Amino acid sequence: MSYPYEAPVSQELFDRAAAVTPGGVNSPVRAFRAVGGTPRFMVSGAGPYLTDADGREYVDLVCSWGPMILGHAHPEVIAAVQAAVVGGTSFGTPTEGEVALAEAMVARVEPLDQVRLVSSGTEATMSAIRLARGFTGRAKVVKFAGCYHGHVDALLAAAGSGVATFALPDTPGVTGAQAGDTVVLPYNDIDAVRAAFAAHPGEIACVITEASPGNMGVVPPLDGFNSRLKELCEAEGALYVSDEVMTGFRVSAAGWYGIDGVRPDLMTFGKVMGGGFPTAAFGGRADVMAALAPVGPVYQAGTLSGNPVATAAGLAQLRLLDAAAYERLDAVSAQIRGLVGEALTKEGVAHRIQTAGSMFSVFFTDAEVRDFDGAKKQEAYRFTAFFHAMLAQGVYLPPSAFESWFVSTAHDEQAVQRIAAALPAAARAAAEAHA
Ligand SMILES: *Cc1c(COP(=O)(O)O)cnc(C)c1O
Repeated sequence: MSYPYEAPVSQELFDRAAAVTPGGVNSPVRAFRAVGGTPRFMVSGAGPYLTDADGREYVDLVCSWGPMILGHAHPEVIAAVQAAVVGGTSFGTPTEGEVALAEAMVARVEPLDQVRLVSSGTEATMSAIRLARGFTGRAKVVKFAGCYHGHVDALLAAAGSGVATFALPDTPGVTGAQAGDTVVLPYNDIDAVRAAFAAHPGEIACVITEASPGNMGVVPPLDGFNSRLKELCEAEGALYVSDEVMTGFRVSAAGWYGIDGVRPDLMTFGKVMGGGFPTAAFGGRADVMAALAPVGPVYQAGTLSGNPVATAAGLAQLRLLDAAAYERLDAVSAQIRGLVGEALTKEGVAHRIQTAGSMFSVFFTDAEVRDFDGAKKQEAYRFTAFFHAMLAQGVYLPPSAFESWFVSTAHDEQAVQRIAAALPAAARAAAEAHA
């Protein structure tokens, strides 16, 4: 397709980047491969807005894929970072900031007896899986197709069909041995989980699931799905691992656990808890966490784990996330969803907006999306046209039809009105798009 704008400075930077970095990016989705066109190189952010290298301003509905829940450059978060950074950036020793951040997490999320800080969501899930295997003495891990848990070798596997199967690796570089103990099942299919436990008695260390998936677009668990998962795990002596890297501290003060109340054995966190810095965590039951070094035998470590600048940012952000903040997020999310739905309906575009707390995504299909196969049935080419029309009018959406949209407490009436003004033309572009 042709793009209704030019971004010469971003294009020049992208060309430079491509010479020294594969695809010009440090994380694949940033390259705009799913939608085409020139990825925007951002130079600054303020509240709900981003400014690109060509000097164009956008309402940001990605929020760094979730972390910027208070908007960009929130003055109190920036002040906490500035105060921390002048005292030195890393000591390789314990610091009080780590204790305070862990205490804040444990206070908010009831199933967390203890947490261990790491530097990315990937590390959190990788470590949680190792701990689950070490604690149970079992090898196999159950995951669901369409759930993303970072680029952990054993978890980079999705089923080719909706049938319980041993996973083939999704990517070269992951060997059959690394993925061979991973069982991939269709999401929201409790019978498939029951069948997997029956097929591998006493072999499954854990079931890992996104608390409410946001990485195939927003596909919430059906009523009772998580609680049945938990029951099955308990009955079979496996651990229930809830990945809240995306939902944690975003969809409520206690994340998705605060919404469905299903008590995991282990949980993983990232994104919001770092305030825009690389910090993440895993945690849960005290007896399971006691298996971790230096108390127990399961090794896990990190040079920059609990980094003082990152923990200061995360703690400042968590302290600002009070009940009023979550009310604001829910309200602005509902307002934007209403506007998007209205605009698409007016143009006769088949769509379905699915929601998990303030997270939502727009599927270009009439049917309810319950799993990855359902998500893939949407008319993604309509999203491409919609995306570029929004971008041209100064609204930055996730550059893929299979991602959640994220709002912040800084999304005020002015930002919402800018989105509203862009929607009619974008909905028209979606209506006129063809595969
Ligand atoms: C983002 C994400 C991860 C990976 O986190 P990184 O910090 O990118 O490694 C893991 N799980 C879920 C659910 C995520 O959304």
